[in-house]
Amino acid sequence: MRKLALTAFALAFAGSMFAAAGDASAQSKKRFIAIGTGGPTGVYFATGNAICRLVHKEAAEGRKSGRKHGIRCSAPSTGGSTYNIGQIREGELDFGVAQSDWQYHAFNGTSKFEGKKFGKLRAVFSVHPEPFQIIVGKDSGINTWADLKGKRVNIGNPGSGQRGTMEVLMKAHGTKTSDFKAATELTSTEQSKALCDGKIDAYGYTVGVPNAGVSVATDGCGARIINLNSSVEKKLVSDNPFYAFATIPKGTYKTTTSDVTTFGVMATFVTSADVPEDVVYEVTRAVMENIEDFRKLHPAFVNLDPKKMMTDGNSATLHSGAVKYYKEKGMM
Ligand code: GLU
Repeated sequence: MRKLALTAFALAFAGSMFAAAGDASAQSKKRFIAIGTGGPTGVYFATGNAICRLVHKEAAEGRKSGRKHGIRCSAPSTGGSTYNIGQIREGELDFGVAQSDWQYHAFNGTSKFEGKKFGKLRAVFSVHPEPFQIIVGKDSGINTWADLKGKRVNIGNPGSGQRGTMEVLMKAHGTKTSDFKAATELTSTEQSKALCDGKIDAYGYTVGVPNAGVSVATDGCGARIINLNSSVEKKLVSDNPFYAFATIPKGTYKTTTSDVTTFGVMATFVTSADVPEDVVYEVTRAVMENIEDFRKLHPAFVNLDPKKMMTDGNSATLHSGAVKYYKEKGMM
């Protein structure tokens, strides 16, 4: 059984709108890149902002040594994985964080992306593992997938990775939204509060471990994460290269009193073949040259390993700018 490597905290478990500076005499042109993330309480938002921070750190150090890249970066909150991929395709975003399952499907034109293949999608590196989690209210009486029947379940906002993965899991279990008492489409920022306020009984979320959004529900109002390790999840993992089993270790949150087993994906960092090679090279370089700083920026990043980031979870072709960096470093 495949396993994703997780962290000490967490798991036994991976076009751009460049505006040239108007001043023709300026020696270095300024270029602006935008990275699509997720909800502000998730790990994608921390990922995008960590990447921008390192891009700006390299810019500051480059100014001292005369090595200028001229890139300015922003990482706004967005709807999540599939929204980010769609906006990269439109040239509205230059980069984005996306689940490895949705990277695979977008690049291959399968599942939600059937008839909407995005062949120019490019992988840059993968980041942290993201177990898919069903988080249930303290007194909801839900202990297994089957117990969700007749309950109010948040299936996630359209555009989020968890919405897509929830739909895949529902299909695999033969569950329809009409089997729930209600199927809500709250965002990741709204769902924990809704659970604690008793407005929903459970929600599905694909996210790095640990994270502040989930702890609002677990530590805040006694919500629990249930096991997802039946024959249905086993088949999903054995049939699909982008899924692996993951363990959320005992002690991760206040209510994690024993290890939780579920399946999961990797968070990946993606772009388009239309984004220039030197830009992707500089962003890859900024992250990899400062990997120790990166690991400190969120507890879900503590185990990041550049060699694994280059390969794990990536099914789209690697962008030539990333390849240039990996070859230069002798990693490829
Ligand atoms: N995996 C989620 C998604 O695609 C986002 C998780 C996060 O924000 O960290 O959309």
